[in-house]
Amino acid sequence: MALSVAQLYEVMAQLPDPVFILSEDGYYVEYIGGVEQQSYQDGNPLIGKRLLDVLPLEKAQWVLDQMAQAFASGEVQVVEYDLSPVEVEGINAEAGPQGMQRFEGKLAPLPSLYDGKRAVAWMTRNITRQHELQLRLKRLGETDQLTGLYNRHFFFEHYQQRLQGEGGSGLIMLDIDHFKQINDRFGHQVGDRVLRSFSACVAAQLRAEDMFVRSGGEEFLILLPQIGEQTLLKVAERIRTAVAAMAPDPAPITVSLGTTLIQPGETVGAVLARADEWLYRAKRGGRNRVAHDDIST
Ligand code: GH3
Ligand code: MG
Ligand code: MG
Repeated sequence: MALSVAQLYEVMAQLPDPVFILSEDGYYVEYIGGVEQQSYQDGNPLIGKRLLDVLPLEKAQWVLDQMAQAFASGEVQVVEYDLSPVEVEGINAEAGPQGMQRFEGKLAPLPSLYDGKRAVAWMTRNITRQHELQLRLKRLGETDQLTGLYNRHFFFEHYQQRLQGEGGSGLIMLDIDHFKQINDRFGHQVGDRVLRSFSACVAAQLRAEDMFVRSGGEEFLILLPQIGEQTLLKVAERIRTAVAAMAPDPAPITVSLGTTLIQPGETVGAVLARADEWLYRAKRGGRNRVAHDDIST
């Protein structure tokens, strides 16, 4: 069957997700659908208004930029954005979802002119719940549950990006000394507690830009961007001292550290292998010490 114009109009009006018709010069030309009230405020009051009068300046400008891209490419643009109902002038913010919402927008350039202007259909979907879940899963996947530190996976994901910028970087590989004895003497739960206080103690010695992860068991990695050899050694020694000075709870612990500067262009595997080798030397040298790969010699 062919739909009548009235039926087509009815279908459009009943669409759960909203569609905005936006003109090239930045006006809301029409509002269609959006009947799912738990996800959307009523957008009808916006018809005839100007984006710049309705949205915060930056967001209005961003919308106009997306439209310009849709016109320039002639293709559908897919975007994601945050918007809170209280940021939108002229709608009833009280009915509908509250707080910052996440939307997926899909905008298509329209073939004909509206009031003599080019326009896009901006179809939007409230994806706040999925987005929050996505963020939670991401956080879960990159965090170590016991210590709250980032994990090995996070280290590899962010390694290259943290190396960007001026100056050399350094790496420290740490391993708690005779940790098995803590477990054996006091039990695994106490061992867990020691791992947590150890992590907090080390973290307190670091800068915000340093990346400190639990790479596994009682082994940890620290990537220190923009650092020279002397400072790297100083930080490593400071960590060693701080750990040795922790309140013995239930027993004193010490840590061994292997440190190395990172050479431009070398693979993460090569850096880790070198740090591992120097950590091994620190262990063999008697533990509770820093062994440094002095690459200049
Ligand atoms: P070394 O000085 O040579 O590093 O000796 P070590 O005893 O620390 O080394 P080893 O690798 O033999 O033992 C590491 C221990 O760490 C064994 C393992 O049971 C314990 N361990 C690893 N992960 C956890 C954890 O999540 N919780 C607890 N409690 N113990 C852990
Ligand atoms: Mg150990
Ligand atoms: Mg170990």
